Formats: sequence, structure tokens, C-alpha cells
Amino acid sequence: MVNIRLNNGNEIPQVGFGLWKVEHTADVVYNAIKAGYRLLDGAFDYGNEKEAGAGVKRAIDEGVVKREDLIIVSKLWNTFHEKGRVEPITREQLKWWGVDYFDIFYIHFPVALEYVDPNVSYPSGWTTLDGKVRQSKATIQETWEAMEHLVDIGLAKSIGVSNFQGSLLIDLLRYARIRPAVLQVEIHPYLVQEELVQFAQAEGIAVTAYASFGPQSFVPLKWDKAVDCPRLFDHPVVTAIASKYNKTSAQVLLRWSTQRGLAIIPKAQNPLRALENLDSTSFDLDPEDVKAISGLNRNLRFNNPPDYLGTLYIFA
Ligand code: NAD
Repeated sequence: MVNIRLNNGNEIPQVGFGLWKVEHTADVVYNAIKAGYRLLDGAFDYGNEKEAGAGVKRAIDEGVVKREDLIIVSKLWNTFHEKGRVEPITREQLKWWGVDYFDIFYIHFPVALEYVDPNVSYPSGWTTLDGKVRQSKATIQETWEAMEHLVDIGLAKSIGVSNFQGSLLIDLLRYARIRPAVLQVEIHPYLVQEELVQFAQAEGIAVTAYASFGPQSFVPLKWDKAVDCPRLFDHPVVTAIASKYNKTSAQVLLRWSTQRGLAIIPKAQNPLRALENLDSTSFDLDPEDVKAISGLNRNLRFNNPPDYLGTLYIFA
């Protein structure tokens, strides 16, 4: 397994396992660890951290791995951005996972929403109990300082940001006492994000790509943009390259990302697909093939809050 070295000296595997919309999470996590995955990408918002923790516990109890072999990743949801809320919810999430530190803890989205009690609504999503999207007053600086405190007290080894764009990163780097170690953003051949990747990497921030298969993950949500979009798996440029290397389209899409130096976190319920994804760094694409896949760029973002909320134009 290839590792990526972060700006604080910690290392993470380049290929991890995503936990959004995973069902039967305890079994899926246990099987992913048994198959060789060492990085698990979770979040408060995925609503399955207790189940993920059960899968981790089983793998550790059976001696498959030790805690220190795993990179456990989670994210701070938007409703906990006030400085007084960050540490308590992180402790709660750690309890759900059954561990005493996260390897990486991200700010999930650069937008602060009004607090919703997780004992009343979990995961609460984007709205308060009356179904409205309500912003809160916390700034990113306030939240970042609380994230830095998590490192100081040992609850997170590395901290990062997700769904941030260049201007916000530029601002954050002016005041960050601890620089973000990782940036997690949507990246696939329809949304190549060349400049953002170059900028982050030049600043020593590792980049993790999510939704590596483009529309695929959003089709079950029946989002029009995804349903109406040609599948990357069937795109003639991708299928031709897959035949050339005798690999699957999924593996070609993942290798395109990892050859750009990105970490990836594909999600697969199906164990054979999970193995196929884990094995996607075992071949190299020729530079002209990487370029041909990058040529599919349409600046098409699927995870765009205004499309499903009608507000919060964070990428505008
Ligand atoms: P993904 O791009 O990993 O795609 C998942 C879809 O592709 C599923 O339908 C799955 O069945 C299918 N698939 C997986 N492997 C396949 C294979 N080898 N062949 C054919 N089909 C295959 O989708 P994702 O779950 O949206 O993204 C991955 C992870 O990224 C998430 O689970 C989550 O951890 C993270 N994520 C983060 C954010 C964020 O805001 N930070 C947003 C979305 C996802």
C-alpha cells in the first residue's frame, strides 16, 4: 500500500474506504479491514459512526489489526462550529467509534449552521427541526482554532478541511497555528479541479478526492444532474483506456486520481468491488492517458448545496 506523508509527518494510505450511505456498516467496515483497507472515512453526518466503531472493535478483538494500524477519519458537522461545541461533539463521536483519538478530523463544510441537539435529531442534516436552513455566527477562524485545540489535547492527530475553495484556504493559512494537513474535495474527470489541487499541494496540503466516480454516487439520490449525466464508467475515453490496461473503468478512474498524487476513498458495499478499488494502484497509466481523462472536465459539481437546499452558495 502506497502512503502519503502529511505536512506534520503523519502518514495515511493513499487508498481508503468511504462510509457515506453505507449499509450494514459494522460488517462492511470489518470486511474492508480484513480485505486490507486501513483508512476509514467517516463523518457525524453519515449517521453510522457507532456501527463503524463496532466493525473496528471486531477487527481489533480478532487480532486482524491494532488501533495504531488504522487511520480513522471523521468530520465536524456544520451545526457544531461554535468554539464551545467542537470538543464535546468530538468526544461524543470518539465514543461512538470506541477510540480515543481521530487520525484526521475535518471541518466538513465551510458553513456554520444553527445548533441541533444530536439527541433530538441524528444525523440532523442541513436543517433545524422545523426544516429550515439557518446559519449561525461562528466564523471559520473560530472553528479552526477549536480544531487546533483538538490537536493540542490529543483528540486529533491531524486536522483538515473539506469542501473549501482557494480563497478560504488563503485566508485560513494567514491565521492557522496548525496548518490543515488534508483538503477533502469532490474530484473526478467531470470536475478535475486542477488549480485547487496545484494550490493545495504547493502549500503542502494533501488532497483527498471524494466521489471519484462522478455521478455514480448521486444517482441513487435521484439528483437530476447525476441522473442526466453520462456515466463515467461507460465513457468511451475511459472504456478504451480500461481495455488497453486490461483493468476496469473504476480502476482507471481511481488510478487517474492517485497518479495526480491524490488520496482516494471510494465506497463499495460489494466486497469484490472493494478489492478491485484497493488494487487500483497496481498499474500505471501513460501520461497521455491521464491527460485524455483530464480532458473530460466539464466543471460539473454534483455535491453543490444550492442544488438540494436552494441556498448556501459555498462554491459560487
Ligand atoms: P464513490 O465515488 O466512491 O462512488 C460510490 C458508488 O460507486 C457506489 O454506488 C458504488 O456501488 C459504486 N462503486 C464503487 N466501486 C465500484 C466499482 N469498482 N465498480 C463499479 N461501481 C463501483 O462515492 P461516494 O461514497 O460519494 O464517495 C466516496 C466517499 O467520499 C464517501 O463514502 C465519503 O466517505 C466521502 N465523501 C465526502 C464528502 C464530503 O463532503 N467531504 C462528500 C461525499 C463523499
